[in-house]
Amino acid sequence: PAITNHLPTAELQALDAAHHMHPFTTGADLAAKGARVITRAKGVYLTDSEGHEILDGMAGLWCVNIGYGREELAEVAARQIRELPYYNTFFQTTHVPAIALAAKIAELAPGDLNHVFFASGGSDANDTNIRMVRTYWDVKGKPGKKIIIGRKNGYHGSTVGATSLGGMSAMHAQGGLPIPDIHHINEPNWWAAGGETSPEDFGLACAQELEQAILEFGEDRVAAFIAEPVQGAGGVIIPPETYWPEIQRICDKYEILLIADEVICGFGRTGNWFGSQTMGIRPDIMTIAKGLSSGYQPIGGSVVSDEVAAVLDSVEFNHGYTYSGHPVAAAVALENLRIMEEEGVVEHVQTVAGPYLAEKWHALADHPLVGETKLIGMMGSLALSPNKEPHATFAAEAGTIGYICRERCFANNLVMRHVGDRMIISPPLVIAPEEIDILIERARKALDETY
Ligand code: PLP
Repeated sequence: PAITNHLPTAELQALDAAHHMHPFTTGADLAAKGARVITRAKGVYLTDSEGHEILDGMAGLWCVNIGYGREELAEVAARQIRELPYYNTFFQTTHVPAIALAAKIAELAPGDLNHVFFASGGSDANDTNIRMVRTYWDVKGKPGKKIIIGRKNGYHGSTVGATSLGGMSAMHAQGGLPIPDIHHINEPNWWAAGGETSPEDFGLACAQELEQAILEFGEDRVAAFIAEPVQGAGGVIIPPETYWPEIQRICDKYEILLIADEVICGFGRTGNWFGSQTMGIRPDIMTIAKGLSSGYQPIGGSVVSDEVAAVLDSVEFNHGYTYSGHPVAAAVALENLRIMEEEGVVEHVQTVAGPYLAEKWHALADHPLVGETKLIGMMGSLALSPNKEPHATFAAEAGTIGYICRERCFANNLVMRHVGDRMIISPPLVIAPEEIDILIERARKALDETY
């Protein structure tokens, strides 16, 4: 029989285990227990093959910002497939969806970030960035500037280049990464590493590691610094207020390009269109993906300043993807942005959903398992702690308690992820207060069951 939603769950799971390799998964473990089969979704809810309605506290992978089941996006995709399903933008051709989306992004992006190089997602956009910044300095007559500095526990994607920019040691271990000329400084994670000093002093000290690294290598060898305005996959690490102004000062002083990886933070997640605005920084390049299309189509890109674009436009940039500016993805992204503007989604985060979620989320701090609670806009984390003190972890079995809590969430029909012993959320931005109540109720139940 055809493989459809109508097959029994066990059969779908068996076929999945036999043929489908899952990202970031121990295949043998998953095969033994069977993957949960998601069949449809509407609003903030997923439905699985057993008919459970699961509140998606992660908006898929931090991307379904306007929620599931938006008919307008289906319409636009169908129309675009009929009119022009594909054409490339390599050889002196262009098309309206790519033109219109690039213009819209330029309008929304801060400062003079007016130029977009499209990719299919965040990882390949960050690979573009590696080649862009190194080419930029070559063209400017400073070919020595090759080193890119990122952060330990930062995440910039899963391609060889993006994994190298990121600072996930478990990822580096597989495949012999990072590639040459990439260096990592410490992350501004006060809960895990600050403790004794004030968050302000700690934030400043972390930022100054960038200056130390530049001085060590020599400013004539450092091309760029890359970071997420707020680390997402690393555990929703919101830096102390002192951190970003100091990073900006250092980048300006030593002529280091600043790349803000906005793949999660962009398009409303932190309460502004871009996390760079929330953090008060002026990047030369922003990486975008995810919320650009609310995940309805795979699309990402690099948004670059007038100056960077002018330099790169003076040479042939030997780089591009078959799907750069894919017309269907671009048309869907454009419609997604239109809906976000028409419905005031960013304002909803700022004035309704964000403040309401903050109140409820921080109230979880009274739970005996919870140490710090952090939230900015619609991304939050809570540190599970044996004694509510910084540094304290469930050392022997680090990550285990988080894993158990995530499993308890899932059993209670809530998707909440864990990163080690941090629980994280990033729900659709359009979530209503009543739905936030349900999210919090299920989270508290899962915490009780974990305790
Ligand atoms: N950059 C950041 C900050 C991300 O969070 C991610 C994905 O989670 C990526 C890049 C990679 O994007 P993609 O998975 O679309 O390649």
